[in-house]
Amino acid sequence: MNPGSKGTSKAWKIARRTSEKVTGNRRAGRDSRPSWDEYFMSIARLVAGRSTCLRRKVGAVLVKDKRVLSTGYNGAPAGLKHCLEIGCLREKLGIKSGQRHELCRALHAEQNVLIQAAYHGIAVVDSVLYCTNLPCSICTKMLINAGIRRIYYEEGYPDDMSLEMLKESGIELLELSRDIKGEKD
Ligand SMILES: [Zn+2]
Ligand SMILES: [Zn+2]
Repeated sequence: MNPGSKGTSKAWKIARRTSEKVTGNRRAGRDSRPSWDEYFMSIARLVAGRSTCLRRKVGAVLVKDKRVLSTGYNGAPAGLKHCLEIGCLREKLGIKSGQRHELCRALHAEQNVLIQAAYHGIAVVDSVLYCTNLPCSICTKMLINAGIRRIYYEEGYPDDMSLEMLKESGIELLELSRDIKGEKD
């Protein structure tokens, strides 16, 4: 377990206050199709599995009109050595979660999901982000300017500034827990 990913931090408490928990009913029996929210968040989890970060594996999926636009996970720039191979200075120096991101070679999942869309010339304005974690403040700034309208996240992140900026931006922030299902159609 990574430091800071538990529900005890101040940031997490703020997240609980400012975001609304998505609720829905699980349907039993043959209707085992995932809801759209489950579907996209489970893709985000799968994407996170490709992460090369030593500390926290994050996956992000951008969606518009129930279609995936792009995906991203955290790792070093394409073609460069990953923290997995050569180690990470943040890890070496024991930097706390949520701090001194510039010391790591990796891009964040939320940065990579925007960059992948740009790479292929896909407009992301008014799209929805499904992310395994709450974005940090650096990614939040980018997501605001990219015109993202709503963010679903599963786990918190110790960054008060990002919560403040998300609130101020008017982006809808929704915590989607693993046992909660969302709309079916
Ligand atoms: Zn690193
Ligand atoms: Zn970030």
